Amino acid sequence: MKIFIDFDDVIFNTGKFKEDFLDKVFIKNGATREDFAKTYYYFFKKNNQVNKYYDPKKQIEALGKKEYVNKDKLKKDFNVFMQDLKKYVFRDAICFLRKNSKHDLFLVSYGDPLFQKMKINGAQISGLFEKIIVGRFRKIDLISREVGKRNFSQDEKLIAIDDLPKHLRKTRELKKRLITFHLKRPEGRYKNLTCGYADYETKNLKEVSEIIKKEKIQIKF
Ligand SMILES: [Mg+2]
Repeated sequence: MKIFIDFDDVIFNTGKFKEDFLDKVFIKNGATREDFAKTYYYFFKKNNQVNKYYDPKKQIEALGKKEYVNKDKLKKDFNVFMQDLKKYVFRDAICFLRKNSKHDLFLVSYGDPLFQKMKINGAQISGLFEKIIVGRFRKIDLISREVGKRNFSQDEKLIAIDDLPKHLRKTRELKKRLITFHLKRPEGRYKNLTCGYADYETKNLKEVSEIIKKEKIQIKF
């Protein structure tokens, strides 16, 4: 069994992280909530779709231009804040990851690679994964690509866990092989989204473990 698991709002309490990040890095150095919100997303176009992502470097540059923001201190506080993010890792996530072999676990994350990697490193969980995959592509495509490269045996069970429905829409190649879990944590930023096509809907990773165990998840070919 190979498990492809999302980072934000699945392993990591990104909502809480973002609140503290705003307070302890930006507000502390003179920025306002409005400044923060206005400079939060950057956009890029791909396949005729406009996608958004967060880039702290660009945000710090943009806010640093305001005379009431202390840019040097902002940069310094940003780096200090990012160093230890262990407290934002959900407890059940650590249990879930430790229960599985490192070789079966793939972390799949969407966003600016540099910032995502800083968060993952700060969370101090990198050692629990076979591979960490970060990109600005739909996660299902990142999974597809990895499966194609790895030559897993045909009866290897594949599982994907994500909180964002759009990342769980299966591609044709993975339709029969991949089992999807839509994770709706009470703390999740997107808990109100519904997903009509995931195989299972759960509230935490303990429930995911229980389903895997109870149903001995079988894939029909
Ligand atoms: Mg997520």
